[in-house]
Amino acid sequence: MSNLPDESFRDSIATINEEGKRNFIFPKKPSGKYYDKRKLLSYFLLAFLLSAPFIKINGNQFLLFNVLERKFSIFGFPFWPQDFYIFVLSMIIGVVGLTLFTVAFGRIFCGWFCPQTIFMEMVFRRIEYWIDGDRGAQMRLAKQEWNAEKIRKRLIKWVIFFVISFLIANVFLAYLIGSDKLLEYIEEGPSENISTLIALLIFTGVFYFIFAWFREQVCIIACPYGRMQGVLLDNKSINVAYDHVRGEGEKGRAKWDKREDRSISGKGDCIDCKQCIVVCPTGIDIRNGTQLECINCTACIDECDTIMDKVGLPKGLIRYASEDEIVKKEKFKLTTRMKGYIAVLTILIGVLIGLLFLRNDVEANVFRLPGQLYEQKGTVISNVFTYKIVNKTVKDFENVSFKLEKPLGEIKLVGNKHIVVKKEALYQGTLFIEIPINEVKEDKMKVKIGVYNDGKLIETTTTTFLGPRSFN
Ligand code: SF4
Ligand code: SF4
Repeated sequence: MSNLPDESFRDSIATINEEGKRNFIFPKKPSGKYYDKRKLLSYFLLAFLLSAPFIKINGNQFLLFNVLERKFSIFGFPFWPQDFYIFVLSMIIGVVGLTLFTVAFGRIFCGWFCPQTIFMEMVFRRIEYWIDGDRGAQMRLAKQEWNAEKIRKRLIKWVIFFVISFLIANVFLAYLIGSDKLLEYIEEGPSENISTLIALLIFTGVFYFIFAWFREQVCIIACPYGRMQGVLLDNKSINVAYDHVRGEGEKGRAKWDKREDRSISGKGDCIDCKQCIVVCPTGIDIRNGTQLECINCTACIDECDTIMDKVGLPKGLIRYASEDEIVKKEKFKLTTRMKGYIAVLTILIGVLIGLLFLRNDVEANVFRLPGQLYEQKGTVISNVFTYKIVNKTVKDFENVSFKLEKPLGEIKLVGNKHIVVKKEALYQGTLFIEIPINEVKEDKMKVKIGVYNDGKLIETTTTTFLGPRSFN
């Protein structure tokens, strides 16, 4: 028999069997200190995820990602297409923040905060434990022929999974089209909104497929964040890790023998009970080291601590630790790479705060009509412009007017003289700017325009006014 370590885990994943077919994982129900904390956090995050699109701040949805109409709202701050740079900057900050967090603390996000893990492990999986029982009972049920018990259990589970998937799809839609519109559609009934109903059923089908069948493969195969771990993690990153120095000792792991003193025999503290594998929702053996499949769910920490307790060995054989902590006993400290990320993040956040303060609730643009030059009417020079006013607030502007602030002159609206800009809407039209010829000092002159609502200045903007070339 070869003495070489078993490296076969590098060529296979637990979710696919030797014939290339799906291998269902039946993880044991976790229990312990970390699981209890994760449960508490998940209740809070579930409440947040499900309620965020229905919470309003100053009339703005707390979180809205209306990609189709390009309307976004983050923490109640509305973002318009004109604010897209702020939105992009926020996303960049999110990515840099997550990168920093990953470099320092590994995949904590996956285990504690990711919606996929929260729904899978804290909602669907727990319903499964409730209906089908723990690991052993689930495995028996899977192998069992289709008798009355299996049909009943499967039907109950699938119906509950479908109902929850449908609810998640509704909330997902509220994030996409806005909760007001969703409630409006619900009131009108499905027959009035067939296309939305179809979209809703497609989303429901996708969620059902993910949580009933695809499951942990999202983290292993589909999630791009998971695949970035290889480049982000290093020996100083804190992860759910097996203390191989302690676990393997000088003579490797071995089955538990209570008559044996392992400090004398030289055997490691790992008693090879394999409970850390049995409880793992991605089916891996954490003793093989940090792996892409590990979502840092902490189930193996809890399970191993329970085992260590039972055999009277110190807890923490699997724990949050960096490779350097395990091998060199080095405590966590900020590395140069982390300091670099912190510096970049601080600068980006500073810029974002500045931009948010500078950002206006109203945006007005006045553009010269393409191809039009100036016109002279007696002692007055006139240019024609188009204008756009964006009202980003949740109140209508009932009485909007323009005033030429600099130089002296007049603004004349074409057509409708009473401008009303509805909340969260855009208004556009045409206007003339007329300036006495003695005020026109250049052939291309900057002019300043004030936009007023009920006599109150709400925005100023500039544009270029054309005059005769004789000024050159
Ligand atoms: S649960 Fe702990 S003791 Fe048991 S195999 Fe895993 S690491 Fe070893
Ligand atoms: S190895 Fe441990 S922390 Fe990682 S996914 Fe499996 S049980 Fe969770």
